[in-house]
Amino acid sequence: MYDYLIVGAGLFGSVFARQATDAGKKVLVIDKHPNIAGNVYTEDIENIHVHKYGAHIFHTNNKEVWNYVTRFAEFNRFTNSPVANYKGELYSLPFNMYTFNKMWGVVTPEEAAAKIEEQRNEAGITEPHNLEEQAISLVGKDIYEKLIKGYTEKQWGRDCKDLPAFIIKRLPVRLTFDNNYFNALYQGIPVGGYTKMVANMLDGIEVRLDTDYFENKTKLDALADKIVYTGAIDAYFEYQLGALEYRSVRFETEVLDKPNFQGNAAVNYTDRETPWTRIIEHKWFEFGKDDAGNDIPKTVISREYSSEWKVGDEPYYPVNDEKNGALYQEYKKLADKEQKVIFGGRLGEYKYYDMDAVIASALELTEKELD
Ligand code: UDP
Repeated sequence: MYDYLIVGAGLFGSVFARQATDAGKKVLVIDKHPNIAGNVYTEDIENIHVHKYGAHIFHTNNKEVWNYVTRFAEFNRFTNSPVANYKGELYSLPFNMYTFNKMWGVVTPEEAAAKIEEQRNEAGITEPHNLEEQAISLVGKDIYEKLIKGYTEKQWGRDCKDLPAFIIKRLPVRLTFDNNYFNALYQGIPVGGYTKMVANMLDGIEVRLDTDYFENKTKLDALADKIVYTGAIDAYFEYQLGALEYRSVRFETEVLDKPNFQGNAAVNYTDRETPWTRIIEHKWFEFGKDDAGNDIPKTVISREYSSEWKVGDEPYYPVNDEKNGALYQEYKKLADKEQKVIFGGRLGEYKYYDMDAVIASALELTEKELD
C-alpha cells in the first residue's frame, strides 16, 4: 500500500517524507505523540510560540540545508546570545572578550589570550582527555569553574572528567566582542513557529498521530515495502542488549503577568546549587527588535531541569561516552541486519545532532534511497 512507513514525525522523518513524496513515492507517517514536529514542536500560549521540548535555534553553514528549510518557512533574524548567571554575576556567552573582561578585567585580545595561556599552563594540560581538561585548555580554570563545571554537571549528571571533550567544543571561544553563540552563516527561528514549518513539509502527506508503532508493529509493517524508523534504536530491539543512556529534560512553564522577565531568550544558571540549568523566555526568540515584545503584556518562561532518563521517559540527549558508544555499535550491528528498516535521526542513530545536521542526513539518505 505504501512504499515507506515513516515512524516519527520529527525533522528526520518529515524531511524524508517530503523528499520521497516529491519523488513519486507513497508514504505514511506515524507518530505516537498527539502532535507532529517531534522535539522542535512549538505551541501557542498567549500569542507566543513556546518551544515545548526545549529551545531550538536554527543555525547552519550548509547552504543546501538553508535553501531547503527556507522553502517551508521564513526565518527571522534571531541571533542566539545567551547570558550566564553565576550566583548573580552575569557573563556573556559564548566565551568572548566581554566574558574575559568581566572575569579578569582584561581589555585587549592579547591580554585575554595571555590569561588563558597562563591558566592552561598552571593546569599542565597538554592533550585534553575529557571535558574538564578540554574546557580548561580552551578558556582557563576561572571560566571553567564559574561558567562550565556546575552547568555541565547539572546538564549531564556526570563529573566533567567522565564526559567526552567534544561536548564543550560545540561552544566557540572568541577573542572578539561577539556574543553570537553560533559560528554559522545562517541563523534564525521560523516565523510562525517550528510546528508550522514541519506542517508545511508534511503538506499533502498522510500522517497518523497518537499511533504507537510497537503496539501495532506487525500490522503497520505489512503496510509498506520499507520502514524509516526514527525512534530510539535500543527501544526497537526491546532493549535486548541493555538500555542506552539518555538525559531527559523537564520543563516548568509559567505565564507571568509582566511584559519582560529576564530581557533575553536564554539565561543559563551556571552554579551547581540552582536546580535548573536555564530559563527560557520564549517571546524573545521572535521579538527583540526595538523591544517589540513588550507589546505583549504577558510573558512565558520555562525553567529547564535535567534528569537521568529511564525507560518510559522522553529521551532528549544521547550520552555519547565510551560505554554508550560501544553499546550503540552493538545495536548498529543488529540494525544493519534489518533489511527492510532504515534507522535515522537523533534517536535512531543515537547522536547529539543539531537540526541542520539531521536535515542534511535525511537529505543524504533520500538521495541514496530514491536514486
Ligand atoms: N555549557 C556550559 N555552560 C554554559 C552552556 C553550555 O558549560 O553556560 C556546556 C555544557 O557542557 C553543555 C555544552 O556546553 O552540555 C553544550 O552546550 P549547548 O548550549 O550547545 O547545548 P544544547 O543547547 O544542545 O543543550
